[in-house]
Formats: sequence, structure tokens, C-alpha cells
Amino acid sequence: MKIMYSSIKNNVENIERSFEFEESLDIYSIKEFKGSLEKVGSRYILNGNLSYSLTSKCDRCLESTTVTGEAVISQVVSNVEIVSDVVESDGLTDEEIDVYVTAIDHFDIDEFLREEVLLLTPSKKLCSEECGGINY
Ligand SMILES: [Zn+2]
Repeated sequence: MKIMYSSIKNNVENIERSFEFEESLDIYSIKEFKGSLEKVGSRYILNGNLSYSLTSKCDRCLESTTVTGEAVISQVVSNVEIVSDVVESDGLTDEEIDVYVTAIDHFDIDEFLREEVLLLTPSKKLCSEECGGINY
């Protein structure tokens, strides 16, 4: 879902998302994201709670396995790539904080959540640490 910056009323947009996506045969689920995008100075702050799951095949025994998790999201979002060291209203320069840069007119929340879940889940999937593999 794309959030158009021009459509944000009173500087806050409440967000609720849930969706699934596939990535190299693994099924990722954004079970729930509840939060808000708030305009602060020239930037936006995304805050929310995310619960997710990943269903994939164990890398060793190929059994289906599901990982679930939760995360608290707090991310500075900006539609302008700033390379200056101008101090913003929050007292920080852009070099001091991690800014997620978006398109000039919108923030794609689904794309952001996709990237976030990919970072949160392990790249190596095992049904258990002790899994002995397919011939065990
Ligand atoms: Zn296994």
C-alpha cells in the first residue's frame, strides 16, 4: 500500500497492514502491522508493532518449518535524500540517524515491511538446531 504524503491529514497517518508474500519459495506473512506515520519537521517517523511468520523448508531435512516473531518498528522516513549536516528540529543531523529514503510523493509501507521481515528472519532455515539432515 502506498501512502501519499499529500493525503496525510493533521500530520499523522494511522496504518494497519496484513499480507503475505513469497520469496524464493518461502512464504512470509505480515500477520499484523499496526502503527502510524507522523510528520516531524521535514521528516516522518514510522512507529508500530509488527508480528510476522516465515514458512519454509528446512535447509537440511526439507521438512516444512515455521518461524514466528514480533518486532517494534521505529524508523525515520524521508522523501528527500539529504546529504547536508543541517541540524533538524529534533536536534540531530541526517548523518547521525538512519533514514529510510522513499519516493518524493509516497511511502510504500508494504515494501518497507517486506524488507524489514527479510532482515528479521534467518537466511538459513532449520527445523531445529539439532536437525541431522535428510538421511538422519
Ligand atoms: Zn530439519
